Amino acid sequence: MTTLTFDSLNPATGQVVGSHPQQSAEAVHEAVGRAEEAAAWWAGIGPAERRRRLLDYKAVITRDLRELARLVHEETGKPVGDATLEIVLAITHLDWAAKHAQKVLGRRRVATGMIGMNLSATLEYLPLGVVGVIGPWNYPVFTPMGSIAYALAAGNAVVFKPSELTPGVGVRLAELFAESVPEQPVFQTVTGLGETGAFLAKDPRVKKIAFTGSTATAKRVMAACAENLTPIVAECGGKDAFIVDSDADLPAAAEACLWGAMSNAGQTCVGVERVYVVDAVYEPFMRELTERVARVKAGEHYGPITMPGQLDIIRRHIDDATKTGKIVTGGPESVRAPYVDPVVVEDVPEDSPAVREETFGPTITVRRTRDAQEALNLANASAYGLAGTIFSRNARRAMELARAMRTGMTAINSVISFAGVPALPFGGVGDSGFGRIHGADGLREFARPKAVSRQRFALPGMNLTSFSRGQEELDRLIRLVTFLHGRRKR
Ligand code: NDP
Repeated sequence: MTTLTFDSLNPATGQVVGSHPQQSAEAVHEAVGRAEEAAAWWAGIGPAERRRRLLDYKAVITRDLRELARLVHEETGKPVGDATLEIVLAITHLDWAAKHAQKVLGRRRVATGMIGMNLSATLEYLPLGVVGVIGPWNYPVFTPMGSIAYALAAGNAVVFKPSELTPGVGVRLAELFAESVPEQPVFQTVTGLGETGAFLAKDPRVKKIAFTGSTATAKRVMAACAENLTPIVAECGGKDAFIVDSDADLPAAAEACLWGAMSNAGQTCVGVERVYVVDAVYEPFMRELTERVARVKAGEHYGPITMPGQLDIIRRHIDDATKTGKIVTGGPESVRAPYVDPVVVEDVPEDSPAVREETFGPTITVRRTRDAQEALNLANASAYGLAGTIFSRNARRAMELARAMRTGMTAINSVISFAGVPALPFGGVGDSGFGRIHGADGLREFARPKAVSRQRFALPGMNLTSFSRGQEELDRLIRLVTFLHGRRKR
């Protein structure tokens, strides 16, 4: 039987970067079968050896950095510098996951409390088995590695389905892993279209799916997973807000806002899409922003729109925003496929698509607010809840606002800085999904807690879990529980 193939294209030139098989249900099931065996082997070599292999993998990727960055550049169109930055971030996560897995997941004793004083108790986090990772194209190394590295460090085997736009990067990541772990296919990549991802989600031997992509696809993947009660981590899109308070460092805020919104052509799940500026500093902030935005050009500072279909969404949002709001920079003519120049629009109604829906392009809407509280209220009035930014010189006020922001992550006086701190969990609320990658939570996401209690000695006169239990024992228990828990706090 001939296997169908598909091409990955350079979005800037349309040239074919590589050709890959559209893997069938059978091929995916075979990969999962191999992964099951590899998972048992990988779990069996123990945490110290896994750490050694993962740190070696880190070194292999680091030595391949230039080559890998070139491939990311070719498949996504992003500048090589941005691709390099993305890979460096992924390397720091791989390093952290490898070094912290044993400490976070390893067996430890836990306190048993007075009623369990004759017990000893241990808790550890065991591997799940095979983890399926379904990844996007916008950061084809950094984003899936946030699941892959943590799942591998937790002792699982991984079958990875990269986006059909970046299959070559996915294949390369697995090839490099095999240099450090040649014995077993602990990390495999399967290529194909959405259908191939669906085959992976439907396989009952996959014990968890880590999905990154749109909210709509997350729902389809979750429905497929429901068949087998397969749990899922869903990292979906966002509509992140950027709040500029009255005491903010305005040049720094404008610089950060611009980069957060326009870098990677705005194709960043935690990219800046909505900007709320407190009235007192609105004009000076806008001066700083418009001065800077005038110097940023598509094709020079950032690449093309990677997914051709996204251009229609971007165009629709720009058309809508420019009809209902006031153009500051750019406009409908900024879309010159496959590039989109920066677009800044003010006073777009909060219920319009440009403010409510994820644009995933180099565009922002800016709105004046009475104060930071109003900015926060508007920021929180979104179905999404991935991340956000606060600029303020008052550390305490900024922290209060950050904590009240209904998102998984918030950066203060910087943009997206949380993504570079491997110890911080990454993920959203609402339409942005659930579950966490990165950090200790990210390691635990790919493990099952295993609780064991062991009776060390029998408690005389307190044999409560026996049919020979008498009233005396119950009376003793009531006296003990009243002593321990019976005091009112009023
Ligand atoms: P999708 O949600 O369509 O795709 C994400 C991944 O899921 C891809 O690997 C895709 O494969 C795969 N997939 C598609 N259909 C299925 C299915 N039925 N079952 C299992 N897997 C499936 O995202 P896109 O890449 O099309 O991007 C569209 C939107 O997603 C963007 O506009 C943005 O809103 C959001 N997005 C968010 C990201 C984030 O990091 N939060 C990242 C990327 C996108 P294939 O590519 O082969 O279709």
